[in-house]
Amino acid sequence: MTKEVLEILNILNTAGHEAYLVGGSVRDFCLGLAAQDHDITTSALPEETMGLFQNAGYGVIPTGLKHGTVTVRMHHQSYEVTTFRKDGTYSDGRHPDDVSFVSNLREDLARRDFTVNAMAWHPDQGVVDYFGGQQDLKAGVLRCVGDPGKRFQEDGLRIFRLIRFAAQLGFAVDPKTEQAARANATLLRRIAPERIQVELMKLLQGDHVETVLLQYPDILAIWIPEILPCVGFHQNNRYHVYDVWGHTCKAVASCKNIPELRLAMLLHDIEKPACYTQDILPDGSVKGHFYGHATQSAKTANTILHRLRLDNETIHTVTTLIGVHCDPLTPNPKQIKRFLRKIGAPMVKLLIEHHRGDNLAQAPFVALERLPVWDEVEAMVDQIIAEEQCFSLKDLAVNGSDLVALGIEKGPRIGVLLDQLLDDVISGKLPNEREALLSAVIPASQK
Ligand code: ATP
Ligand code: MG
Repeated sequence: MTKEVLEILNILNTAGHEAYLVGGSVRDFCLGLAAQDHDITTSALPEETMGLFQNAGYGVIPTGLKHGTVTVRMHHQSYEVTTFRKDGTYSDGRHPDDVSFVSNLREDLARRDFTVNAMAWHPDQGVVDYFGGQQDLKAGVLRCVGDPGKRFQEDGLRIFRLIRFAAQLGFAVDPKTEQAARANATLLRRIAPERIQVELMKLLQGDHVETVLLQYPDILAIWIPEILPCVGFHQNNRYHVYDVWGHTCKAVASCKNIPELRLAMLLHDIEKPACYTQDILPDGSVKGHFYGHATQSAKTANTILHRLRLDNETIHTVTTLIGVHCDPLTPNPKQIKRFLRKIGAPMVKLLIEHHRGDNLAQAPFVALERLPVWDEVEAMVDQIIAEEQCFSLKDLAVNGSDLVALGIEKGPRIGVLLDQLLDDVISGKLPNEREALLSAVIPASQK
């Protein structure tokens, strides 16, 4: 336990209140994992908490007094201290109509979502566990506190939190909780897209994401119904051993754990079913094609990411990656420079990671053949950048003013000429030298 947490618990407990560490940090502590944040629950009322920590010389922020939450600042870190409370009735499936402060810990723990999140820890009492959280932790089971149907109806977000924790912890879901989650999945429609986004991003970055995506397409489909045609869609192509959804789930898990990349992998083939055509080969076998699926998937990804309120920069990165994921990229410096010119170096590096993840989720021979090629492409990209080779207009040895000085009229023609010069430098027709470029422009400008 950190000394700051002990200090906070000590200040509250010596003042005659009860105070415990609670929720996710107790779960992670029991699992031997580093906690994301530390939440403290106490019998002290918010005003009492504020007074105690102010007197002790710490910064306090009245974050959510109505809900009983005070943020204590200690050594540049924030700790949320919340008064024991229970939630009132939920009439909208999202928020309790009111919350009331209670005097005992048990009621506070009873309002929490899953047994493994409903434990508290006290320096003298150790772990306080009224709902079998430790047993479920040991068994690796996620189970609602109380009746799962009722708990999901109170707050639909818990359904997404369930699969997010499954992806992070690799836990199984208790059958009754699982059944209630599926049966109540449409309640997720009432939840704000921003909150779904937060849970989806955590899910995608979980170590057990593949299993969870494979198990719960029905729950994901409440917000992303476009995935449903992918489930069970056979590709009939020797490069693939999984159906479209199986490939997608494996690709997400196989790529580097970068949020934009994981999102791109989730959506990169989403329009494959709609783009499917097939050839019947002379031996009677079928060969599937998905012409145009990269462009179509990028468009659909754009719609989905706006729906989930992703920021514009993320949407741009993800849709660009998806849109170019079928364009040929080989260890050929000219082709690589054209790619660098079109989407920029950071995006090309991400694209290489995208290809690696994609290939690892295809037939085993594909990864065997392709992974060494991506190493080669990456080495070339790094070399081009390290040697500051020319691949963009800003690298060109001449600029617009140079062309104007030659007597070419200002206007769109300047841009066309510069683009042409860049083409010729990239293809090796011209060296990136001022004199050579200017003399190449003179005859062209007189045309
Ligand atoms: P993380 O490691 O992602 O922070 P966490 O379990 O700490 O996971 P938080 O969202 O930080 O999750 O919430 C802290 C605690 O508050 C949870 O452990 C749980 O006890 C309770 N909690 C949070 N959201 C809900 C909810 N929607 N319904 C019931 N209890 C909740
Ligand atoms: Mg937390």
